[in-house]
Amino acid sequence: MIGGGVAVDALGPDLYLFGEETGLEEVIEGRPPLPRVARPFIQGLFARPPAENPTLVNNVETLANVPHILAHGPDWLRTNGTQAAPGTMVFTICGDVRREGVFELPLGSPLRYLVEELAGGPPDGQALKAIFPGASNTAILPEQLDLPLDFDAMRQARSGLGAGGFAVFDDSACLVQAAWRSSRFLFVESCGQCPACKLRTGEVTQTLQALEGGARLRHQPSLDPPKRTRTLSCLHRSAAVADHRMPHQEELPGVGSSPLRGLGGIGGGWSRRCRGGRAIGG
Ligand code: SF4
Repeated sequence: MIGGGVAVDALGPDLYLFGEETGLEEVIEGRPPLPRVARPFIQGLFARPPAENPTLVNNVETLANVPHILAHGPDWLRTNGTQAAPGTMVFTICGDVRREGVFELPLGSPLRYLVEELAGGPPDGQALKAIFPGASNTAILPEQLDLPLDFDAMRQARSGLGAGGFAVFDDSACLVQAAWRSSRFLFVESCGQCPACKLRTGEVTQTLQALEGGARLRHQPSLDPPKRTRTLSCLHRSAAVADHRMPHQEELPGVGSSPLRGLGGIGGGWSRRCRGGRAIGG
């Protein structure tokens, strides 16, 4: 650190919200990781108004660039990446690929390069079915593999880059089960400070669980996250785990035009993973 300073390791609970910037602040101040209303750059660590103590919170990946920018100037960062998204990013890829791993690539690199070249694509005999970026953003489908890995492009594809993690599913996967597991994780990890988040993630999880168990629904399920509702963190938005993710190929049993059509085997034979095959995720 220039001019000195103190480096402190903050150890915290094994909870999703410990990674949220205001949840992290709470832990550093000795409390559970419950997100705050004010962002750290407005009201920071140990703020006692009128001392707002604005605090900068960045991840290690961002901070790792700082010494190089100081040593080589800002143009160094722009030797990689795009105009809007300069530099590189560390991408994690796991699931149905030959080589799971962590790869650093210039922002703007094609998703296809990450999936097919670096990770080796799906195992022999399998085809790509869907990729969930950023943990639980809207799925990317095989025909979208040429999307550039940058924030704007992924947003325009109605998905998101998130922290650069990609979970790959081949054509033997049941995406209902994948969506249910993702939704259940978000429900469990929701801290409950915002009722819309806890209740909606619970409803979505219940619906997906019923579908995963083969239930026939009388009404088209709504899997949207709460809209026009103020919440303290963005966890609830991830509850849209099943929305827009799937190509519309098949009908759910008993459901007319469902947003879950084509989730993989529903109504037309469950995939190996739905019928006692290997589990997806945790
Ligand atoms: S959005 Fe959900 S996880 Fe975030 S603070 Fe509100 S209840 Fe907690």
